[in-house]
Amino acid sequence: MALVDNDALSTIGEKGKRIWLYPLRVVGRFVRARTLVAWGLIIALFIAPWIDVAGHPAMFFDFPHRRFYFWGLTLFATDANYLLFLAGTLVFGVFLFTAVFGRVWCGWACPQTVFLESVIRPIEELIEGKPSQRKKLDAAPWTPGKVLKKGLKLSAFLAVSGMVSTTLVAYFLGRDGVIEAQFDPASHPIGTAFFVAMTGIMLFDFTWFREQTCVVVCPYGRFQSVLMDGDSLAIGYDYARGEPRGKAAKGGESTEKLGDCVDCKKCVQVCPTGIDIRKGNQLECVNCTACIDACDSIMDKLGRERGLIRYSSENSLKGEKTRIIRPRVVFYSVALTAVLIGFFTAVTLRQPVEIALNRLVGAPFVQLPDGRYQNQVELRIANKSGADKTFSVKLVAPADAELFSPFPEFKVTHNQVTKFPILIRQKHPGQRTSGFALQVSDGEKFQERIDGVFLAPDRE
Ligand code: SF4
Ligand code: SF4
Repeated sequence: MALVDNDALSTIGEKGKRIWLYPLRVVGRFVRARTLVAWGLIIALFIAPWIDVAGHPAMFFDFPHRRFYFWGLTLFATDANYLLFLAGTLVFGVFLFTAVFGRVWCGWACPQTVFLESVIRPIEELIEGKPSQRKKLDAAPWTPGKVLKKGLKLSAFLAVSGMVSTTLVAYFLGRDGVIEAQFDPASHPIGTAFFVAMTGIMLFDFTWFREQTCVVVCPYGRFQSVLMDGDSLAIGYDYARGEPRGKAAKGGESTEKLGDCVDCKKCVQVCPTGIDIRKGNQLECVNCTACIDACDSIMDKLGRERGLIRYSSENSLKGEKTRIIRPRVVFYSVALTAVLIGFFTAVTLRQPVEIALNRLVGAPFVQLPDGRYQNQVELRIANKSGADKTFSVKLVAPADAELFSPFPEFKVTHNQVTKFPILIRQKHPGQRTSGFALQVSDGEKFQERIDGVFLAPDRE
């Protein structure tokens, strides 16, 4: 039994076989703007691990040293609260954005759409030609010409996949690491494995899987229908204006009986997921705007008003009022504002220097030959400021104890964590010492007191 039109995937045939799409490339005001945004994002993605901001790569996840560099902000492993705020911002930002703007992310910023529509399809068209030529080429027997074109296309896609994967690896290995891994893959086995896997996945996506990623795999596509409602922005067909559809009467004027849709099907031909937007909002629509530009070009030719397919809400297309302020939007806005305030407060109150005192493992205290007790501790100084610092450490309590350190000075370079062993020693044998306090200062604004417990047999 045939499925109801709108319940069937446009890329899967009656017998479950993949229907290969040959979308027509259209150029209009939305596609032009989207291409500009896409190239801005691609450039940002490619340069972020290679350029320096405040002395470090703009973006670098330095796991071995537990640092995360983000456009001038350096996060340490102890800054997990920032990640919590960032995760909250991401979650509520996506909720709010989707409730208000629908799937704008999919069409304008999703890496899948960005690369597929702005890089891969133009390359394909350059090598294999327009959709009709591509279709003919695919159906044709293998000839040297076809092998050459397919080989050229595969090489180009492989080059793009390789470049993107190299960049992604650079986010984790850093500039030097990724260059080293390129020349000596065994030097960074995990990075090399990631590079090979990512290149393979991207190549598979670019050459074959394509729109199936959005239609079948993408989780965001699945839950966006829960986040959206009739007031969310979407790309929709103005049914009231377009129907009943039919060919334009001579002279391009709309007849009395027909709507503005001339049933040219250009909106379907340009759709990268193969759907007909005139059937209403569909899960497969990635909001790529191609159908808007396609339809606008037809309306221009016919001298009719643009916008038969346009950004609008479902309610607006039904002739009802679109409500921007509604309970879900208010809730998501409040939640997003709260996490953003939390994030900026945490950044503002962030201490440029963090001090911690740890016991040395193994022998936290020893008895000296003259009977005095000595504690071995480790002073951990995290210098989160942008400058190298030299700290002074002195024992401020108790008066009957003394401090020894093998280091003449406590120098910590910027964005580094350094640990210094310190000895706290009783001045007299037989004295009872219960605690001690250190004062750490950078000679400028920073000064902090840190207390510790003095361990001895009667205090173990
Ligand atoms: S492009 Fe516009 S006029 Fe042509 S079929 Fe689609 S909606 Fe109708
Ligand atoms: S329906 Fe229009 S906006 Fe949606 S994916 Fe197809 S062409 Fe893009």
